[in-house]
Amino acid sequence: MFMQKKDIDWGSLGFGYIQTDKRYVSDFKDGKWDEGRLTEDANVVLNECAGVFQYAQTVFEGLKAYTTEDGRIVTFRPDLNAERLEQSAKRLEIPAFPRDRFIDAVKQVVSANAAYVPPFGSGATLYLRPYMMGTNPVIGVKPATEYQFRLFATPVGPYFKGGVKPLTLKVSDFDRAAPCGTGNIKAGLNYAMSLHAIVTAHNEGFDENMYLDAKTRTNVEETGGANFLFVTKDNKVVTPKSDSILPSITRRSLVQVAKEYLGLEAEERVIPFEEVKDMAECGLCGTAAVISPVGKIVDHGKEICFPSGMTDMGPITKKLYETLTGIQMGKIKAPEGWIYEIM
Ligand SMILES: *Cc1c(COP(=O)(O)O)cnc(C)c1O
Repeated sequence: MFMQKKDIDWGSLGFGYIQTDKRYVSDFKDGKWDEGRLTEDANVVLNECAGVFQYAQTVFEGLKAYTTEDGRIVTFRPDLNAERLEQSAKRLEIPAFPRDRFIDAVKQVVSANAAYVPPFGSGATLYLRPYMMGTNPVIGVKPATEYQFRLFATPVGPYFKGGVKPLTLKVSDFDRAAPCGTGNIKAGLNYAMSLHAIVTAHNEGFDENMYLDAKTRTNVEETGGANFLFVTKDNKVVTPKSDSILPSITRRSLVQVAKEYLGLEAEERVIPFEEVKDMAECGLCGTAAVISPVGKIVDHGKEICFPSGMTDMGPITKKLYETLTGIQMGKIKAPEGWIYEIM
């Protein structure tokens, strides 16, 4: 099938919003979701008192569509995004959007914007942003009664543009999430409160914040938008276990890749910050980069420099990265159900 791609310089795209042709919208009213539709209208017009504006009743997801080596357009484990959106919605008293309809919305939006799906080899992808919000006027504090589910797409560039550059992190003096709070859901509110912390870190010359658990400030949690993955000196993959971190689909996939493809031991457990200085490698996991290597973590002037250094990924991190991206791109056989074909 021949399709004329948009005239975009895929390689020079950054991570910014570019309006595409169609997006999916469904409204919840009188206790049910309507049948949903694609629209060309990129604007949302709501009452000034809508629940999303007053009390931040909104949750979101992030995933990408891309072209495999053999020319198929696919997404990676969208069923897990559908499931996680449901968990996030539940926590904020937003009615669940049916998982099969989430997958259908992904399919419709990617198909309708196929000309924006970057070609294989460009490193660019079509980023998908599903989200839900309270839409009717709410002034007393309570859940909205009407909601909208939207899903739009925007092409984004390769994450490691000028090559891989290991990150320098700061142990933050701010907390990201409280015990029994909302750290384990994907909600804009977790990002709103992280903005001051990240601007502060950037102003001090750091790339990201490492947050510790809010209760004891002794265990590793995550950054503002990515989970940690460590490799011990005896080549074991370890990831932090906590009820207040977001269950990253990338991190869960990497743990499975470590065990099943690389034959490594992998473990999700509490990681005291005290142990970090003994780790061989450190990376951040998320949809955007898959893994970004961390070269250095600074705790109030005390530096932890990982043996993997400041110029490249550590050897295990690199194997994990190459294996998972190989699976995503169709070069390596994927576990059952990981690659969802759109066209
Ligand atoms: C989205 C997100 C991640 C990464 O999750 P993926 O499913 O791998 O993209 C990690 N931490 C936070 C706080 C997030 O919002």
